[in-house]
Amino acid sequence: MTNTAASSATLPGAPLTYLQGYPPEVVQRIVGMQQRDGLAAWLRSRYTQAHTLRTDRALHDYVKDLRKELLRGAPPLSKVAFDSKLHIVKNALGTHTTVSRVQGSQLKSKREIRIASLFKETPEEFLKMIVVHELAHLREREHDKAFYKLCTHMEPAYHQLEFEVRVYLTHLELGGQALWPQGRPNFMKD
Ligand SMILES: [Zn+2]
Repeated sequence: MTNTAASSATLPGAPLTYLQGYPPEVVQRIVGMQQRDGLAAWLRSRYTQAHTLRTDRALHDYVKDLRKELLRGAPPLSKVAFDSKLHIVKNALGTHTTVSRVQGSQLKSKREIRIASLFKETPEEFLKMIVVHELAHLREREHDKAFYKLCTHMEPAYHQLEFEVRVYLTHLELGGQALWPQGRPNFMKD
């Protein structure tokens, strides 16, 4: 019996690395806006509320529907879940894992997608961006041209959304509060 595992993490999270790859003047402007509290206002003006997916079951159905609609013929997923440890432990916001195992003469693959729990409290557009990213990895392993072409095929606004997600993560990283908290005021959050 052979066991091979391939796993890949998305969006590494050391300070300000969420904005790596963007021009310095853009990064400067984002940090400046954060200092004047303008970042929260900008993000809130673009998105007024969070999506309503609360459970792994709901997330699973959401991902399954998107896979069916946008990535026809892609292999089925054996597990889809929110993961509260993802951001802290792995410095990642989403992961996809493929475990292949030889059983007798058959090669069986189990594919999993995990989404950082912080995406429970974001607009649906942000959740969709990270799901599209992980779904695209079912076809393309590297972050190359073919990968991003597939992402923008699934979500035409992919690059803008990824930028906004990174801006939001930078906001949180610099000590900003969650902008779309569920059901209870910020001071009661544990
Ligand atoms: Zn990735």
